[in-house]
Parts: sequence; C-alpha cells; structure tokens
Amino acid sequence: MSTAGAEPGEPGAETDTEIHAQLLVLGSGPGGYTAAFRAADLGLDVVLVEREETLGGVCLNVGCIPSKALLHIAKVIADAERASAHGVSFGAPQIELEQLRSWKDGVVGRLTTGLAGLARQRKVRVVRGEGHLTGPHTLTVAGTTVTFDHAVLATGSRAVRLDGIPHDDPRVMSSTDALALADIPERLLVVGGGIVGLELAGVYDALGSSVTVVELSDQLMPGCDPDLVAPLHRRLRERYAGVHLRTRVESIEASDAGLLASFTAVEPALEPAVFDRVLVAVGRVPNSESLGLENAGVAVDERGFVTVDAQQRTSTPHIHAIGDLVGPPLLAHKAAREAKVAAEVIAGHDVELDVRGIPSVAYTDPEVAWVGLTETAAKLTGVAYRSASFPWSASGRALASDGQDGITKLILDPETNRVLGAGIVGNNAGELIAEPGLALELETDSQDIALTVHAHPTLSETIAMAAEIADGTITDLPPARR
Ligand code: FAD
Repeated sequence: MSTAGAEPGEPGAETDTEIHAQLLVLGSGPGGYTAAFRAADLGLDVVLVEREETLGGVCLNVGCIPSKALLHIAKVIADAERASAHGVSFGAPQIELEQLRSWKDGVVGRLTTGLAGLARQRKVRVVRGEGHLTGPHTLTVAGTTVTFDHAVLATGSRAVRLDGIPHDDPRVMSSTDALALADIPERLLVVGGGIVGLELAGVYDALGSSVTVVELSDQLMPGCDPDLVAPLHRRLRERYAGVHLRTRVESIEASDAGLLASFTAVEPALEPAVFDRVLVAVGRVPNSESLGLENAGVAVDERGFVTVDAQQRTSTPHIHAIGDLVGPPLLAHKAAREAKVAAEVIAGHDVELDVRGIPSVAYTDPEVAWVGLTETAAKLTGVAYRSASFPWSASGRALASDGQDGITKLILDPETNRVLGAGIVGNNAGELIAEPGLALELETDSQDIALTVHAHPTLSETIAMAAEIADGTITDLPPARR
C-alpha cells in the first residue's frame, strides 16, 4: 500500500491494514482527481484509490490526451497535403513510429506525473489497488481496509465488446490498443462511426492506412445535427476506402491472411473483406458491476450507471458518484464539473449541478462541436427554436485557411432570441464553441453576440455573423429577399 502522498506503486511509510479518511475517492480519472483535490483544498482528509500505475484515468492515459497528441500529428500531415494544392509540397511523410509513440507517451507522462505531484502537495493519500466496497463505510483495497465518512465513486467506463468478434486476437483493437500504435496496418476496419472511432480513423488515415468505417445508424456521430456532420462525412468519403452507414459487422474470422469481416447492410450491400486490423469503437459501459455497490446500498439503472441527484448523491446519501460512472455524456469536462459539485457538497456547501450545456467536440478533420440544444433534440422533444447558420464559404479567414466547408449555427429562442444552443463544423470548432457556451450560461441573446466586436479576420467572427443573420443585420451575405 502507498499512503501519505506517496505515488501509486511506491512503498508508503505506513503499513497499517486499516486507515480512515473523511473522504474516500475511488478512481483517479478527471472526475476522481478533481473531486479529491477540490475536497482537500476545502480542508478534508482524502484517500484516493486507483488500480492503475498512474493517476489520470482513461482521459489522461488512454483517451483524451494521447488521442489529441496523435491527432495533432494527423492534422500536420493533412495540412501539408492540402498545401500542395496551393503550390507548396513537402513530399510523403517519413514516419518514425517509435519516436512518435514515445513523444505521445511523454506528453501523457508529463501530465500523470504532474497529477501525482498535485496529490502530494495537497496531502491526498494515494492507495494503489482495486477497491471493493464491503459496507456503507468500508472499502478493501490490496489487503487494506479503508473506513470513510463520505465517498465519491469515480470508476469510469470501459469499451463495449461485440459478439462475433475475436477480441482476444491482437489485431482486433479497442481504442486503448489503437492508441498504443503497434504498427500502421495497410487495411484498417473501424467499427463504429462515433467520435472515438472517427478520431482514431483520422489518425490511422493520416499515417497511411487505408481506412473503412462502418456505422450501424444512418448518420456518422449519431445525435449530432446532420448539417454539421455533412462536411465531415463528405471529406471522409473522399479520403477513405469506404464509409458505410446502416451497416452491421456480423462476424470477423481471424486467419493468418488477416481478419475477414462479414457485414449486413441496408443498401448498398457490403461484400465480406479482409483487413489487417480492426478497431472496435461502439460505445462504453460503466465500471459498476464489481465495485460491491450492493454492499453499500448504491443503486444503478438498467444500463448499470449509478443513479444520482443534482448534488451527485447516490441512493446512499453519504456516497456520491460522478463522471462516466453516472452516465452520458461520457466526457472528461462533465466528470470534472460533477466532481467539484460532489466535493463541495461533502464539504458542506449548498451547490448542485446547474449547467445549461456541456460541450461535445469531435477532434476530427474538420472538427465538429456543439453545445446546449441541438436541432435534432429540439425536433424530437418539440422545443420551439429558430436557427441561424453562417456558411464559412463567406468567411475570409476560413477561405484563407482552407476551411470553406465549415458552418456556424446558433439555435435561438424564437421569442427572445436567447441562445439555446450552437453547433460548429470547421477548423478549431472545439475552441470556438466556448463562446456560444458562455452565451448560453449567461443567458445572452443574438444581439449581445452580434454587438460584441469580433476581431477580423478570425473564425470567431462566424459566431457574430450567425447572430447577425438572426438579427437581420448581416452585410457579409447577399441581402435578404423582401
Ligand atoms: P475514468 O477516466 O475512466 O477514470 C476511472 C478510473 O477509475 C480509472 O483510472 C480506473 O482505473 C479506476 N478504477 C475503476 N475501477 C476501480 C476500482 N475498483 N478500484 C480502483 N480504481 C478503479 N473526453 C473528453 O472530454 N474529451 C476528449 O477528447 C476525449 N477523448 C477520448 C478519447 C478516447 C479514445 C476515449 C476512450 C475517451 C475519450 N474521452 C474524452 C472520454 C473521457 O476519457 C472520459 O469521459 C473520462 O475519462 C471520464 O472520467 P472519469 O473520471 O469518470 O473516469
């Protein structure tokens, strides 16, 4: 056991088989470490339990950060390729896989080491091992019993496995395997056209794989507005060996020659084909079933997500739960926000989760981002709205940076023009979505945005221009027909 601020894996100074904490945090992802650090800053004595060697959970170790490091390289390659159409050619990239891998691992290492330091500075005791609740106030981990007054459960989620797929074959990859970058397969099949599948497809495409994507539903990134997905879909269709919607992988047969995949597709049919690797990215399930939740009276829903109230309290009031464990959206910033609420409630503050929108970002090429109400959700739920979309083909900055197929869309209350949501597709959409996110939180309307002077030429201007469309004051597009 490691305690008293020792790093996970290091022998700790104490050898007790029983320790007590005011707050036990189980799991050290963006939810768990944020809850632990915030609670420690509020004066609580915290024990943080993590089964992996390093802190940081999926996000830092095998999710957000390594994928963004590789996507940065993919973007450099794609931008260099695009420059050749404008008279500047760099030639085919020379890829030193070992060096790329070690740079990516170095980025992750800096962050996870930094977290261990932050834990030490706050005197958060880190205990390494798989935790199991044995009662409402007790947890066992690596032969030690931790007793606690309060707990925050933050054990995250893991990738779904599909029947009919030989997951034990090393050529069949989860997102974690794909990020390990064992090699660059000649032919890669990506099963699942959601955000994780498409981001990793983008990495392997840039590194030289011939990529085929199959998606069960009738749209890439189900849930996102179709007009925002369309420019991405068009670009992927041009680049990839295939992008197949309404297509199910029925089976994959492994042989020395490769992985033979068979499909059932609603028009057009897709013939069986052999791939060198297959990435399965079809969603995630919560890590809830082996925690001993039943011993502590913590309830889960039919999908295994722990149920919580607006203060992140579970059915056992002194135990809170946060992050992927409590349900979608499965995003790091959602986990961190919930973590702060849980820690503050435990420290005696009267706060609750009160956000109008949690942004979602696909770091694809082009990026797709949205926040708050989507048109898809508004139509499904019958919420009244009006939308205003500014085409990036009329943005000087977008044209000057090869991004003319982007769109910025505001979704507004039809009576008051208050911002209800926004969606952006195009370069840096993930950065740009912060402004409509703030507008949503501050309950501003399209006029507030339109009257805010945005620098020219920037992509952020497209947000003001969408607001001007809504207000009827746009001069950068042809006049509205009378
Ligand atoms: P996790 O990060 O999953 O952490 C849970 C921790 O609990 C893990 O360290 C686990 O080892 C530990 N644990 C579980 N059970 C036990 C136990 N019994 N005892 C001890 N420890 C235990 N989100 C974004 O917002 N932006 C992105 O760009 C993004 N990219 C992603 C890319 C990929 C490839 C993937 C897979 C995910 C990505 N996500 C992204 C999602 C993001 O990683 C998760 O939403 C986030 O990590 C959830 O945080 P969490 O704290 O709830 O759980």
